[in-house]
Amino acid sequence: MKVVVCLKQTPSTTAVYDVSDGTVSWDDPSGKPHVVNPWDEFAIEEAIRLKENHGAEDAIALTAGDEDANASLKQALAMGCTSATLINDPSFAGSDGQGTARILAAAINHLGANVAIFGKQAIDGDTGMTPVMTARALGWTPLTYVSAIKEISDDSITVERMLERGTQTVTAKMPVVISVVKEINEPRYPSFMGIRKANRATIPTISGDDLNIDGAVGADSANVDWSNVYQPPARVAETEYITGDSAEEIASKLADKLMAEKVI
Ligand SMILES: Cc1cc2nc3c(=O)[nH]c(=O)nc-3n(C[C@H](O)[C@H](O)[C@H](O)COP(=O)(O)OP(=O)(O)OC[C@H]3O[C@@H](n4cnc5c(N)ncnc54)[C@H](O)[C@@H]3O)c2cc1C
Repeated sequence: MKVVVCLKQTPSTTAVYDVSDGTVSWDDPSGKPHVVNPWDEFAIEEAIRLKENHGAEDAIALTAGDEDANASLKQALAMGCTSATLINDPSFAGSDGQGTARILAAAINHLGANVAIFGKQAIDGDTGMTPVMTARALGWTPLTYVSAIKEISDDSITVERMLERGTQTVTAKMPVVISVVKEINEPRYPSFMGIRKANRATIPTISGDDLNIDGAVGADSANVDWSNVYQPPARVAETEYITGDSAEEIASKLADKLMAEKVI
């Protein structure tokens, strides 16, 4: 079994987005560093556990991005991934979800994996579609919202999927693409030794020339255009302090107000 974990470098969860003329700034003006998409930390942890507990020969971290994304791959290495690969090619810029999935599928094939693990969504693009579109490009079975891997072998996998109204147990033939939810595990912190090792690692880069990509990718072939990205208007909120000589008086005034406003 060979496992690839797909991760994406995203802006920090507390980054301030600047949107002008329909374009979102990638860099936070205050210089907050980019991070591993938080949902992907659970995917990284699960890939490492497949190596540690289920005999996977490799847990390979993979991202399609620019050279900055190496920092995120190094975090995955520091946590315990066995190797990492960056897919970087200027012709990939502007790919839509389908293009991204075609690139990732070709790289997953290139790496010879039979399990690909993703987080359930990315905190910037937020479509949650990449795992399923990648599965389609590969011709593999997608298993989404996985909250537990119960059994796995080179032939089949049994997982629990977390749905709004309960849990579903699913068995599928390998190979599979999995997207995981946060309930699946508790991601570990990178160890001191892991960080040192990751800092020394040279991460191989592959480009379109190395890959057998099935279908068009890049801006010209994108079917989806994010033509109207804008910031919601700032929320206007009023604050009123309720005062009184005692807690009872303040509570009574508060209750009157809430009733007058039809809140209670
Ligand atoms: C500012 C901005 C502008 C954009 N403009 C356009 C546009 O004009 N047209 C358009 O079609 N799309 C646009 N996109 C979307 C872009 O194509 C998507 O980010 C990409 O397709 C992945 O989809 P997602 O972010 O929704 O990931 P999701 O599907 O929500 O992510 C699910 C999983 O897939 C993984 N994943 C996603 N991308 C990668 C990757 N590159 N490498 C490895 N793993 C990955 C995530 O880490 C996560 O684990 C834009 C995105 C941003 C942030």
